[in-house]
Amino acid sequence: MDHESTQISAVESVGPDAVAVTIDTPDGFDAAPGQFVSLSVPESDESRFYTVSSPSVTETFEVTLTIDPDGTLAPLIAERAVGDSIEVAGPFGDAHYDGQARPLVLASGPGVGPAVAIAERAHSEGADPAIVYRDATVIHSDRLDTLADAGVPVVILDADADLRDPVATALDRDPDVVFVYGFAAFIDDVEAAVAAADADPADVRVENFG
Ligand SMILES: Cc1cc2nc3c(=O)[nH]c(=O)nc-3n(C[C@H](O)[C@H](O)[C@H](O)COP(=O)(O)OP(=O)(O)OC[C@H]3O[C@@H](n4cnc5c(N)ncnc54)[C@H](O)[C@@H]3O)c2cc1C
Repeated sequence: MDHESTQISAVESVGPDAVAVTIDTPDGFDAAPGQFVSLSVPESDESRFYTVSSPSVTETFEVTLTIDPDGTLAPLIAERAVGDSIEVAGPFGDAHYDGQARPLVLASGPGVGPAVAIAERAHSEGADPAIVYRDATVIHSDRLDTLADAGVPVVILDADADLRDPVATALDRDPDVVFVYGFAAFIDDVEAAVAAADADPADVRVENFG
């Protein structure tokens, strides 16, 4: 995988142990919200995948990271300063917004990054997005509040909340695509909740963070 070197444009706290990292867009790079990139830093041989959390790619784009201090790469990326270099490859993945009229995003943890990005993009294009977000702490609360104030249905659940009723209610809105972003335990719970609901969404796109 060929990585291209570019620069950090901003690193901003967006919740407990969570940062939004804004990156100067490499020449020729474009991505849709929900696609993911591979990131690395010069002082590490490791790379990890992170999902685009800005509604579009302009001169910059954003990813949202949660940081476990025992992790290998996320702590190094979160410590970057403006102007530091970072290496980017991609984009990858087909769980991304491409103009659907009624996208539903189910997210947990850093999956809220693509959730807000997709909802912002869809709402700005006159579409009708909705979000169901489950987490122990709320990340990107400002962007979630702004979306809710604009009339976007945003449901925020505690980490141990049962997904079945909120997912069934969200599916009752008849979304034309369901995006799912989060780590494996959340994906399992979403799949169980969708199976339990009296609905059979035709287009479900899952991005499993591992
Ligand atoms: C398609 C895809 C998209 C993704 N998108 C995102 C995203 O948008 N945002 C995001 O935050 N993540 C995302 N991820 C996950 C991300 O790629 C990394 O897996 C994550 O950031 C952890 O990387 P790390 O190098 O910090 O931790 P790793 O070193 O890979 O460790 C993983 C976990 O193991 C544990 N661990 C590691 N070392 C130790 C140790 N010495 N002692 C105890 N515990 C330890 C920690 O709990 C750590 O969090 C995505 C993954 C995939 C596959």
